Amino acid sequence: MHNVVILGSRFGGSASAYWLHKLFDAQEIQITIVDQWAVMTYRPALVHVAAGHPIQADNWHIPMARRYSQAGFRFIRDTVYQIEPHNQTIRLATHPPLPYDTLFVATGADPRWDLIEGLAPHHGGVCEDYLARESGYLLSRAQGPIVIGVGSLYSSGKPLRLQTSLDLPALEVAFLVDAWLRKHHRREERPITVLTPASVPGESLGPKSQAILTRQLDQRQIRLITGACINKVEASKVTLFPHRVIKAEQMIWIPPYYGSELARLSGLDDGWGWIPTDQYCRHEKWPNIYAVGDINALALPKVGHIAMIQAKVAVHAFWASMHNKPSQPFTPYILHVIWTGYGCGLFTLSDILYGGHREWVHWGMPAALAKTFFSRSYRHFLGWMPIMP
Ligand SMILES: Cc1cc2nc3c(=O)[nH]c(=O)nc-3n(C[C@H](O)[C@H](O)[C@H](O)COP(=O)(O)OP(=O)(O)OC[C@H]3O[C@@H](n4cnc5c(N)ncnc54)[C@H](O)[C@@H]3O)c2cc1C
Repeated sequence: MHNVVILGSRFGGSASAYWLHKLFDAQEIQITIVDQWAVMTYRPALVHVAAGHPIQADNWHIPMARRYSQAGFRFIRDTVYQIEPHNQTIRLATHPPLPYDTLFVATGADPRWDLIEGLAPHHGGVCEDYLARESGYLLSRAQGPIVIGVGSLYSSGKPLRLQTSLDLPALEVAFLVDAWLRKHHRREERPITVLTPASVPGESLGPKSQAILTRQLDQRQIRLITGACINKVEASKVTLFPHRVIKAEQMIWIPPYYGSELARLSGLDDGWGWIPTDQYCRHEKWPNIYAVGDINALALPKVGHIAMIQAKVAVHAFWASMHNKPSQPFTPYILHVIWTGYGCGLFTLSDILYGGHREWVHWGMPAALAKTFFSRSYRHFLGWMPIMP
């Protein structure tokens, strides 16, 4: 039987498992999923956790291992430290070496706090449960100015260059923190500043969405500093190049992204830590390795929707190669909603980033409801929804 291994079990890994389950007969392949966690922290919900709702973090741990056991897949909870493509083996921290015939890598990007001088997780963040939870508690305890900072995205610039690791959740946090502080009559004493290396808010969205975001930030007195070149972070201040100092009694950071250490150590990366693939998400050198989601060099911006689309493309390409059939390449587009507080959200469907002309935008309650509905469905169906993107 063909031996398929999936590394990583969040948006990309879980969707890969879904499509393998859907397309293949149980007798054709055996599937093993490896992740260091048996539960998935659903990151889109962490923006609410950081914005004053710390105990909500407990609602967003999805038991993925249960989903796989229901499907008859093997799940190994362990840390992968190397992939050896020459002998088709994965080295794990505590289990014996794991062989594969076909491999799907969906282990995401590593946060690189150290790329900004002085910056470390204790300054505050939102990308993982413990960071968002701490930010949420601190919001009610701390006083004074808040800085929401976004690190850079380090990449070859091919096929396109984005400045920020991910600015969309940072903007979302800013809006939700603003709404929470206003509700608790504390907004006056807590000025909010967003620092982004990009030249516009929502750099991966189109001009209409960017204009709405700029207007909303302005109306809600959230200061936006674009083109921010962050020199140094200290306990209660951020220094921007050349000499601008921004005071901060609380910070919430999306750290820089610089690819994946696992990809580098395994010799699978493009020199920047990202896995280079063709339009079918197949590794440029190793055709039995697919890369899905944040770790894929073509996944720009680094969002869950693109991870899910790539999982679909990669598994269909694998199925097609096994059955001598054609399949569809990865054609990126943005489908994203930013919760902006007060029950509203900004919906964007756009391919402008990739040279297209399509930009559908809606700002209002239906957008926020759609994102809430998606999130709850994802949790309810343990990542395998009746309709998958
Ligand atoms: C706060 C926040 C909010 C977001 N909101 C949105 C949103 O609203 N919409 C959207 O589309 N995107 C959103 N994103 C982006 C989205 O979360 C990511 O793009 C998505 O999670 C990428 O999925 P992935 O499967 O590629 O990688 P990841 O989510 O990073 O998952 C990687 C998995 O691999 C495992 N892993 C990693 N290394 C190893 C190892 N060595 N051994 C074993 N296991 C390993 C990890 O435990 C993890 O489970 C948000 C991100 C953040 C930080």
